[in-house]
Amino acid sequence: MSDADCLFCKIVAEEVPAEVVHVTERTVAFRDINPQAPTHVLVVPRDHYPNAAALAAGDPVASAELVSAAAAIATAEGHEDYRLVFNTGAGVGQTVFHTHLHLLAGRSMTWPPG
Ligand code: AMP
Ligand code: ZN
Repeated sequence: MSDADCLFCKIVAEEVPAEVVHVTERTVAFRDINPQAPTHVLVVPRDHYPNAAALAAGDPVASAELVSAAAAIATAEGHEDYRLVFNTGAGVGQTVFHTHLHLLAGRSMTWPPG
């Protein structure tokens, strides 16, 4: 299940380079190219789903695996505190329409987000 025009499908297929930090059966995690925190990793399902809700409906096991992978990466990078974000829709800043969980850690953060 991939989309020929999708950047993150190409990263999963190793057709586009990325700094991969963690892999599981259903997920691949790589560093964000424009990091917003000392640790900024994107955890994506290997299969193409446009957003988090579509993934949860279509593959709930992979959906859970995104969160557990993010937690494992945070621990491996020494962070007890971290933020997980799914942007859903262009109106809130989603720019790549292949589900990705942002893992942000390593600096203090404010709430609410901008
Ligand atoms: P979003 O705005 O939630 O759709 O997040 C997309 C994220 O993908 C942004 O934080 C970008 O910096 C990141 N990004 C875009 N292209 C790449 C790439 N080639 N490798 C790694 N991260 C990327
Ligand atoms: Zn994709």
